[in-house]
Parts: sequence; C-alpha cells; structure tokens
Amino acid sequence: MSTTPVVRAEHLRKSYGSTLAVQDVSLTVERGEIYGVLGRNGAGKTTTVEMIAGLRRPDGGTVEVLGLDPTTQAAALHERVGLQLQESAMPDRLRVREALDLYASFYPDPADPVDLLDLLGLTAKKDTAFKDLSGGQKQRLSVALALVGRPELAILDELTTGLDPHARRETWAVVEAIRDAGVTIILVTHLMEEAERLCDRIALIASGRVAAVGTPTEIVTLAQGEQVLRVRP
Ligand code: ATP
Repeated sequence: MSTTPVVRAEHLRKSYGSTLAVQDVSLTVERGEIYGVLGRNGAGKTTTVEMIAGLRRPDGGTVEVLGLDPTTQAAALHERVGLQLQESAMPDRLRVREALDLYASFYPDPADPVDLLDLLGLTAKKDTAFKDLSGGQKQRLSVALALVGRPELAILDELTTGLDPHARRETWAVVEAIRDAGVTIILVTHLMEEAERLCDRIALIASGRVAAVGTPTEIVTLAQGEQVLRVRP
C-alpha cells in the first residue's frame, strides 16, 4: 500500500487585493483519514481548500494532491476529488434522483445512484424536488453529488452549518460512512464539537496560518489554553 500522502501543501499563500486570506499554510493529509480544517469565520479555511482543489491559484507555496499539481493538472484532479462547497444550489424542481443521474452522466464510470442514495440516507427522497428537501437533506444531496465520480478525496466545506442538532448528527454519521467506504476526507468546519467527533487529525487555522496540528484531544486541550502543541503539519 502506498504511503504517499493524499495532500501535501507547503507554505501556501493567497491574497484578495489587500486582504491576506492565507499567509502560511502547510499540511499533510494521509490516505483514509478524516482531516479537519478548523477555524473561525474568515480564518482562511475555504481559500485553503480551494487551492488544494485547484479552484484558486496560490500566490506562493506548493501543493500536491494525489500526485498531481492542481495549478497545472486541474482537469485530471477533478476526476479524483469530490467537492462539496458552501452554498450549493440546484434548480428548485430537479428531483434527487434526476440530479444524481445528471451528475453521473459527466463521468465514464460513475457510482451507482442507488448505492449513493442508500449511503446518504436519501432513498425515500429520491423523487422529491430539491425545493422540498430539508436543509440536512439538501446538504446530504450535495455530498452525494460530490461522490458520484467515485473520488479518492472528498472535500466537505461547512457541511452542517445551519442544521439543527438532529440533522447535524445524521450528517456526521454519513461522513463516517463515507470514510468507512475508503474515501479520504478533508472536513472544513468552525465547530470544535464537529471536528472532535469526526476527525482523526485537525489543523487549527487562525489568521491564515496553521496554529497547530494534532489529534482532537490535543487540539481541544490547546483550545482550552492548557498546553502548547508541537506543530506537526
Ligand atoms: P468562512 O467560514 O467565513 O468562509 P474561512 O475560514 O473559510 O471563513 P475564507 O473564506 O478563506 O475563510 O476567507 C479568508 C479571508 O479572505 C476573509 O477575510 C474573507 O473575507 C476574504 N475573502 C474570501 N474570499 C474572498 C474573495 N473572493 N474576495 C475578497 N476577499 C475574500
């Protein structure tokens, strides 16, 4: 089995005009783990994962994903990385199964929509229009769509923002099921409880920098100000 990391980012930097969104982010994501990118709103989390996903070009630093350079090999990368970004939108009347079939038509060897509906707990909603789904169901559909291409890496950005506690717990179970199916996951969140519950390792991002990397226990302890962590990207 290969031990090459799924993601290796070194000293990433990105500005929007005069806003320095990401100042210095280095991180390494290993195969099979749920890797948390945790931080407050505006910390630079989304910009970081957009650079990893090849959606934004870094101003500085390097990133390698599944052995590919996102700045020059984005098309090849997009076949192997599933993206669920904040604020996914769909035509109101599109039904769940129709959305999956549409996305599946973009891939030569898509996942079976029946399996995805089952994995995401959406089988009973397959004929429901997007506008009639609950917030949690919409989020789970957006994850299903990110998985249609059988990605090796899934990037999930603020998946449970706006959900009630019950829907949040259901969504967490889905994230664990995806990991158990063999997909490496980068989970972007501002919720400590979510990162603690789901992640194998967490990078704590503050003001565009990696403040610390550690296990959930280490990061929770750090956040309580009781211990200074060795940064281990
Ligand atoms: P959030 O959870 O609120 O999205 P985040 O940790 O993901 O926060 P980013 O979205 O990466 O952080 O934003 C980092 C900084 O860059 C913030 O100050 C934000 O206002 C700014 N920013 C993000 N995207 C843009 C953009 N397209 N144009 C200008 N500034 C931006």
